[in-house]
Amino acid sequence: MRLSYRPFQNKHANYIKLAPYRGIFKEGVPILTYHKIGEPAETVRMKSLYVRPALFERQLTEFQRAGFQTAKLSHWKSFTNPNRRQFVITFDDGSNSVFQSACSSLHKFGFSAIQYLVADLIGGKNEWDIMNGEVEDSLMGESEVRAWLSAGHEIGSHTLTHARLTRIDPKQAREEIFSSKKKLEDRFGVPIRHFCYPYGNWKQWVRNLVEEAGYETAVTTNAGVCTDITDPFTLPRLNVERSHRTWRTLISRFLPWTL
Ligand SMILES: [Zn+2]
Repeated sequence: MRLSYRPFQNKHANYIKLAPYRGIFKEGVPILTYHKIGEPAETVRMKSLYVRPALFERQLTEFQRAGFQTAKLSHWKSFTNPNRRQFVITFDDGSNSVFQSACSSLHKFGFSAIQYLVADLIGGKNEWDIMNGEVEDSLMGESEVRAWLSAGHEIGSHTLTHARLTRIDPKQAREEIFSSKKKLEDRFGVPIRHFCYPYGNWKQWVRNLVEEAGYETAVTTNAGVCTDITDPFTLPRLNVERSHRTWRTLISRFLPWTL
């Protein structure tokens, strides 16, 4: 079977810096996955969902120096040509930390991004994680989403409730996919063309519902880069990892002038 995207040999590859990826980015266009921008509290369980603002800015600097520009998913048909040096920045869940800490960096580099919102939790909390014992995180409210849009960024749907779509009743899955699109469109007055599978959880029937609902693309957690034969409803991404505490990060913290 021919794969519809350029997968990585290491399925758990996490993006931290550009150097190891330069080769693969010549074969396809990367879509980066971020969740929250900030330093996680000690009590946070899933610390890997956080990227520190300094690391985020360093990553953007590397892309800019290498001549990359951000692409919008709406133009995915043309952006799959890697020679154009484009990349896509995506944020899952609508965390307020992104609004607080990523906007100024994005603006500084002239980059744009898409935020996938949980339509029934605008201005609420990460209920789907809190249920499993995670620390509360504030989600962008209506005014933050409007400011995000005015800054030239996009929004997409991440369902109504952050549902695990393949494990719920198909009727309910349909509702999560269709109604979230309509609710976000009615509330913010922009077309919602892009979808993100919560937990990267999808199967063919879920993918088909997304297409039927009128979306143009959907992103997964499959690791890879996009090529001209990529299925737009199962776009691979690269998860951005909070860098681990190595001697280098420790030094940069306490003796930043040495690096
Ligand atoms: Zn999510």
